Amino acid sequence: MIVDNKRVVSIAFTLTDGDGKTLDATQPGKPLDYLHGAENLLPGLEKALAGKEVGDSLTVTISPEEGFGEVNPDLIQNVSAAAFQGVEKIEPGMAFEAKGPGGEVEQVLVEAVEGDQVRINANHPLAGVTLNFDVTVVAIREADEQEIAHGHVH
Ligand code: ZN
Repeated sequence: MIVDNKRVVSIAFTLTDGDGKTLDATQPGKPLDYLHGAENLLPGLEKALAGKEVGDSLTVTISPEEGFGEVNPDLIQNVSAAAFQGVEKIEPGMAFEAKGPGGEVEQVLVEAVEGDQVRINANHPLAGVTLNFDVTVVAIREADEQEIAHGHVH
């Protein structure tokens, strides 16, 4: 059986950035299951996996444009600390959820605090990052009707 649409594929992977730093990885014996052809993965990664068999390993490099986009400087802003009502101490590295322009929830990261000014970054944490996936196909099975209808693995 090969990786194809309407099949549930289990993959083990290690994700590193352009500097070789590990960003994410599956644990041994705990692969990630996804429904192929349902946009569960980044398109470039899904495309590279198509046609592979159990046991196949591949390295897929995804540019920022194909991944989570380039860093948008407009999404990095200074705001007044007063905007963080109810937060006792604002520190770099803290993450908040905020409503985006379209009402969607986005993650906002505190990058720096200087006096009353807080620099926040609403870019995706992986924006501007080249993604290197080392992937091994662990298992493939046919998806059931409900999984296909829902667009995800049960
Ligand atoms: Zn479901």
